[in-house]
Amino acid sequence: MPVNPALNEPDSPFDLALRPADFSEFHGQTKVKEQLLVMVEAAKMRGESLDHVLLCGPPGLGKTTLANLIANAVGTKLHTTSGPQIDRAGDLAGILTNLQERDILFIDEIHRLHPSIEEYLYPAIEDYRLDIIIDQGPKARTIRIDLPPFTLVGATTRAGMLTAPMRSRFGIPNRLDYYTPEEIQHILIRSARLMNVGIEPAGALEIARRSRGTPRIANHLLRWVRDYAQVKAQNIVTEEVAQQALTMRDIDESGLDEMDTRILETIIGKFDGGPVGMGSVAVAVGEDTSTLEDVHEPYLVMQGYLKRTPRGRVAMPAAYRKLGLIPPNTGQS
Ligand code: ADP
Repeated sequence: MPVNPALNEPDSPFDLALRPADFSEFHGQTKVKEQLLVMVEAAKMRGESLDHVLLCGPPGLGKTTLANLIANAVGTKLHTTSGPQIDRAGDLAGILTNLQERDILFIDEIHRLHPSIEEYLYPAIEDYRLDIIIDQGPKARTIRIDLPPFTLVGATTRAGMLTAPMRSRFGIPNRLDYYTPEEIQHILIRSARLMNVGIEPAGALEIARRSRGTPRIANHLLRWVRDYAQVKAQNIVTEEVAQQALTMRDIDESGLDEMDTRILETIIGKFDGGPVGMGSVAVAVGEDTSTLEDVHEPYLVMQGYLKRTPRGRVAMPAAYRKLGLIPPNTGQS
């Protein structure tokens, strides 16, 4: 089982079964949740379409789930696509012309939209119109299609990679943070109920601590722990059962996965602790730079193992200690 499961893959039936259907079942991210609820309520009171929403944050924290919850709360249909899926202007036109009034269009990985497609999207989200150019040269002409007022919910793992014009089309971005172990514990207790396995609060907390603050990872770990509990522990997840099950799969107590550890080992062993660019680290560990930047780096920074500096990434003393090494004397603690 991958420790960092399916982070960038489309949702499996397992993920879908555990996805909250209502805001009340969505734990954590209190600020984002409250802001969205106010926006939804206000739009409903005015009888207007909801303002466009931008959701930012690492994979697995609930961006797609929130898009679904927004559509449920508004009472309209959700249309889902992603930046890389829209190749041509015609694809976008097909999606937009299918929308009904107040529908939600969810574009995942919106930072990966092709610039020419972005150009088509701007008038659509600002003035609800689509200007399509047909033919070329002297025969070229523009056809204007009016669209119903709709809401764009954009999600991105990399807010910094959004073009400035795109960012300016949204109001204040909603940033999702890693969850606390207690929040994940709450989510796991609900998931365990849906999966028909008994779980003690301490068992849920033990899994939560090893989940990198990410609900999707927590749910996948629970799936393994449930199997273990079924075979070895009368279908009850206690703290001890969770510990045994996760240790059997080499899942680190601080939630670091194999790639996280390799990144730290590489920065310290091959690059003298940094500063080093993520591109060089990516080559050394044989992984995509964008995966390192989207999935691994934010968690390592948040946990205090890595620091971003203008000259590159630097391993912090905690990273040395994590690997059983003595930190160099840099004056940093
Ligand atoms: P993202 O779109 O940010 O990658 P998702 O919305 O697909 O993340 O969430 C991944 C899974 O984690 C979902 O299937 C859902 O079951 C679960 N999940 C995410 N956030 C929460 C939450 N706050 N409460 C309960 N479950 C959650």
